[in-house]
Amino acid sequence: MQETADGWDVLIAEALKARYLREGEKGWEDICERVARAIATDKTEYLEFKDLMVRKIFVPSSPTLMNAGTELGQLAACFVVPVKDSVEEIFDALKTAALIQKTGGGTGFNFSKVRPKGSHALCVDGVASGPLSFMRLFNEATEVIKQFGRRRGANIGILDVSHDDIIPFIRAKRVEGSFRNFNLSVMVHDAFFRLVEAGSTEEVWNSGTGATVGDVFSEIVDGIWRNGEPGVLFYNRINRDNFTPVLGDITATNPCGEEPLLPYESCNLGSLNLSLFVADGKISWDFLRETTGKAVRFLDNEIDINVYPVQEIAEATRKTRKIGLGVMGFHDMLLKLGLSYESTEAVELAEKLMEQISWAAVRESRKLAAERGPFPEYEKSIWELPMRNATLTAIAPTGTISILAGCSAGIEPVFSWVYRRTRTVGKEFLLVHPLFETHFKPRLSESDYNELLEHVYSHGTLQDINDPEIVSENEKNLFRSALDIGWKTHIDIQAAFQRHCHAGISKTINMPADAGEEDIEQALIYAWKQGLKGLTIYRTGSRQYVVLNLKKSG
Ligand code: UDP
Repeated sequence: MQETADGWDVLIAEALKARYLREGEKGWEDICERVARAIATDKTEYLEFKDLMVRKIFVPSSPTLMNAGTELGQLAACFVVPVKDSVEEIFDALKTAALIQKTGGGTGFNFSKVRPKGSHALCVDGVASGPLSFMRLFNEATEVIKQFGRRRGANIGILDVSHDDIIPFIRAKRVEGSFRNFNLSVMVHDAFFRLVEAGSTEEVWNSGTGATVGDVFSEIVDGIWRNGEPGVLFYNRINRDNFTPVLGDITATNPCGEEPLLPYESCNLGSLNLSLFVADGKISWDFLRETTGKAVRFLDNEIDINVYPVQEIAEATRKTRKIGLGVMGFHDMLLKLGLSYESTEAVELAEKLMEQISWAAVRESRKLAAERGPFPEYEKSIWELPMRNATLTAIAPTGTISILAGCSAGIEPVFSWVYRRTRTVGKEFLLVHPLFETHFKPRLSESDYNELLEHVYSHGTLQDINDPEIVSENEKNLFRSALDIGWKTHIDIQAAFQRHCHAGISKTINMPADAGEEDIEQALIYAWKQGLKGLTIYRTGSRQYVVLNLKKSG
């Protein structure tokens, strides 16, 4: 097995080449140059934006990196497309989704308006085929577009818990490989969770299955236990943060859940690399607030130059001007501060960080409103002072951009300190987390260090090493990875960020392979009580296909 030091560079170079580099561009700086030039409105902004990107302090999400300053010009990552209950409207939505995915955007749909399977369908004088049959079409369309797009299209299919087809929907991904281009989420209401808590045995679904609230809840739990699907979205919590309720209820999000949006709205994302706001073991709060302001300006500018896939999206997006500024590198920041992810300090810091970022973002949006005018639907919003954007903050998964920035993804704990990665050419190499390497390599002899890597790689953890010379108790505490951390902490951290985040958060609550259905039940209820907007749980090893391979689960 190969050593890793430049493994990350190899990975970055591959990602840049596969997706982001345009003709004549050689590396990251050229991309930053193109993007900053396209997005800045004057020289000062251009210099600031380029500098933040080159230093990887702020990185916009993939569609912006791929398309800014190019003919395509589509910069947003998140879209919600409404699906109604006629063949014509469903195929309109399909076409819109195809146009979005061609440009690298992800699409979210709530299929609840589509009448249940077997009900009367007037237009065909026969029986309706139900939401799942139509979702198959969307899945296929994504499959085809994937062949020529630069980035895999992603969808989320949402169904209200009260829809008659809810049980087949929950089971739709049981067979590995079906609906592979979809995440599935059930939209649940507080009333449903109250009935679950009360142990209700009422039959509530009409579909002739005799299903009770308890049955549907068990189906959700069972699905998650089997393979991590469906996710759950909390309708009431999401709509408590609907900043423009007059424009309608929010019934859907983008594929990874961080952007609850109104029909046809889109949202462009960008993330601050928290790891780089630590200097000499301290957080530079002023620098964080100042950078947040610049990032807001960057994302707000995008709304005006964005080339929208269809007119309805252009109109809806320009009305509310939502942007999604988020963070990545949270775990790296904790490591640099010497804090364990599983600690009260980490939860407190999460809350403070998001409070500061949202506060600075609102301040900048007000400044922009004074300079350029508030968002057109401002009068109908619940904001009390003029704002340029209806919502500002959201935490994306940062799947690719965190690799480009060399930091931990979003607010996730590091999944493993050592990975095996297979390159497209089939060659394998080990990847070691940079902060793990900086910490242990100088402190251990070469052979002890290599043994440690081998151990962490094959066991997936360092918690079971009993030699304090190699790993001290303090280090064990600090170097906990996703599976060493209890699900409750995962939820506590997500909830702490959510308290001050305008939109939503993409996060996976990792559970070990031996987690039981009761853990999942408890986690769902706990997440609802903690005020999360959505929840995704993944029990390790429950899916065959994993991209980043850990020996333990691979
Ligand atoms: N997304 C997508 N296809 C993908 C990955 C992501 O359409 O393969 C969309 C989806 O809406 C997701 C958003 O992009 O929620 C942001 O994802 P992420 O932060 O992982 O993207 P990155 O900017 O790191 O590529």
